[in-house]
Amino acid sequence: MTRARVLLLTAALGPLDYRVPHGSEAPLGSVVVAPLGPRRMGGVVWEEASFGAPDPVGDNRLRNLYEIVDVPPIRAPLRRLVEWTSDYYLAPPGAVLRMVLPGAAFADARRPIVEYRATGELPARMTPQRIVALERIGARQGMVRELAALAEVSEAVIRGLVQAGALEAVEVSADAPCPEPDPAFAPPGLSDEQAAAAGQLRDAVAAARFETLLLDGVTGSGKTEVYMEAIAAAVEAGKQTLVLLPEIALTEPMLTRFAARFGCEPVPWHSGLRSTERRRAWHAIASGEAKIVVGARSALFLPYADLGLIVVDEAHETSFKQEDGVHYHARDVAVMRGSFEGLPVILASATPALESLAQVEAGRYRHIVLPARYGGATLPDLAAIDMRRDPPDRGRWLAPPLVDALAGRLGKGEQSLLFLNRRGFAPLTLCRTCGHRIQCPNCTAWMVEHRLVHRLACHHCGHVMPPPRLCPECEDEDSLVACGPGVERVADEVKLRFPDARTAIVTSDTLWSPAKAAEFVDAVEGGLVDIIIGTQLVTKGYHFPNLTLVGVVDADLGLDGGDLRASERTFQQIAQVAGRAGRGVKPGEVLIQTRVPEAPVMSALVAGDRDGFYAAEAAARKQAGAPPYGRFAALVISSEDIEVARGVAQRLGQKAPAADGLAIYGPAPAPLAMLRGRHRFRLLLHAPRSFDLQGTIRDWIARIDWPAKARLAIDVDPYSFV
Ligand code: ADP
Ligand code: ZN
Repeated sequence: MTRARVLLLTAALGPLDYRVPHGSEAPLGSVVVAPLGPRRMGGVVWEEASFGAPDPVGDNRLRNLYEIVDVPPIRAPLRRLVEWTSDYYLAPPGAVLRMVLPGAAFADARRPIVEYRATGELPARMTPQRIVALERIGARQGMVRELAALAEVSEAVIRGLVQAGALEAVEVSADAPCPEPDPAFAPPGLSDEQAAAAGQLRDAVAAARFETLLLDGVTGSGKTEVYMEAIAAAVEAGKQTLVLLPEIALTEPMLTRFAARFGCEPVPWHSGLRSTERRRAWHAIASGEAKIVVGARSALFLPYADLGLIVVDEAHETSFKQEDGVHYHARDVAVMRGSFEGLPVILASATPALESLAQVEAGRYRHIVLPARYGGATLPDLAAIDMRRDPPDRGRWLAPPLVDALAGRLGKGEQSLLFLNRRGFAPLTLCRTCGHRIQCPNCTAWMVEHRLVHRLACHHCGHVMPPPRLCPECEDEDSLVACGPGVERVADEVKLRFPDARTAIVTSDTLWSPAKAAEFVDAVEGGLVDIIIGTQLVTKGYHFPNLTLVGVVDADLGLDGGDLRASERTFQQIAQVAGRAGRGVKPGEVLIQTRVPEAPVMSALVAGDRDGFYAAEAAARKQAGAPPYGRFAALVISSEDIEVARGVAQRLGQKAPAADGLAIYGPAPAPLAMLRGRHRFRLLLHAPRSFDLQGTIRDWIARIDWPAKARLAIDVDPYSFV
């Protein structure tokens, strides 16, 4: 009889033993469907020695596997990556495995899926809901569930439209072929510096060995062009490449750019894909047919058949850190995947993370530098506007020098970008009479006014409400005032000052889909926009040659909050957004509004002294034992019942381990003391780099009885300290 140890797709259980049905085989890595109680559940056949090698179950208690799925087995390097990720981030292995086999993506590709699309016929009976639904669906196609979500109606409404003949069924096969990129389609003529860098990357791909290469080039130096040469080398060798991007919004422009270089679009992977697209992408990745995959961090765990290269673009971005579920950092896991698979990993950035530069210094990463912009474009001039000396008018946010600069650009027909990392109209609504501040009922956070949609919204839990007319506290009428600016308010000021200027607001509220992002790019490239007002979403990736002015509305915003990376992040964010200016033949100018122009990060930005800034920042971190020279981990205990959460946190505190070099802060209410209706307490661990934090935490939490109503979130190497 053959047995198989199977890691199931559930966070709740470790590996379980099954019997392989007579006549079948289930070698290591096989994707299987197994019985679990009354349910069927997917899983992967795993080594017996893994996960602490639990004792095997007796033969007489084994149940038969239901099915061995006809897809390529999950290879050993990826199994090792799942184990490593689970171990390092203290996450259940089943939760990590779910990223390898997401949803029903691995279901049989040959079984067609039925989607629906509009026929153009209107149903005899039109209800307001049906009108709205058809309008929102437009020319799009999807499964009933997806169309219902898209149109924000129930599935019954969609089915009604199908019955009435307004929507028709279309069969979609998930194994449609995937076009083959052509490395010789349109290679660029590289500058000498670019060619030298590209040569090193090509050699690294040819060597097919693990190595991390930091491609460190100023904005507009051609990093993308250069790493595409490495991808060409991988395609020539018949291997697959994964390109990780920090935002879904960047995928669409990237697909177009890759199509121009390789003659066809790469395969995208992100949460915005339809079920059929996901299934098709998963199978093309697992069969090796998808040669170039461009995706968000979740693309990292997919079962590539023959991966030859990983590129992490904008590698300094903190959005590579996943903040719920498995708290992993995609940049760090990408490097680990490279080491398990034996392949090169390219980290591309104009403002590398201090962590990456420290690895260069330690001799572990190869440093490849592109010091100048391509084609003679110069880096923009940065200047600070001292808001204490040159304040904006009362109730306004743009200081006179910035307003003058905007007027100048409008006069010349050039484009400007105003950057403010705050969505909505105003971050706070306050009662003028009694001082009451409108707070989210579920979170320790203020409700943010979104005037365009006439709502107050919580940016933490998504709670929305109409703006009240009376103060909820003193019931005074029309006493509520908006405090502080968000992008919508800055856009209002721009419209007031320059009524003829054409503006575009760019935030996750307006650019919520790849299609919207593509629309925005077309509008700016087509010269239909004069002034862009945007959040961090516009700081990276975009290349608009006619954009010559960048105004940073509030450069100090990121500095408060006490985050250990606040200065670094501010430096990166402003350097990145500055990098959008003057990318064509016309030179760029950047004006930074700040109340602390003397702060080291501001003076380094203005002086263009990147090395000086990083050196000072590194010294300060070393002094404090902060990353990359020391380590943190956070334990957040939460419960809907504050006493339950407090109780567990206190018991953890009482049993806190003591060890040389280890400091434990808390338990204390987390800075975000309530989130989504759950009360939160935090313990923060700080230790030297060499300290075994994971082992310590594992032993520690095993000593506590865990009530069902309390939840523990573990964040190793946290980036967010709320
Ligand atoms: P980065 O990623 O470093 O910001 P990009 O790769 O986006 O830089 O390059 C900036 C702009 O210059 C892009 O429009 C790109 O197409 C163009 N460019 C860079 N290098 C070349 C080259 N060798 N030939 C033609 N265009 C180039
Ligand atoms: Zn909330």
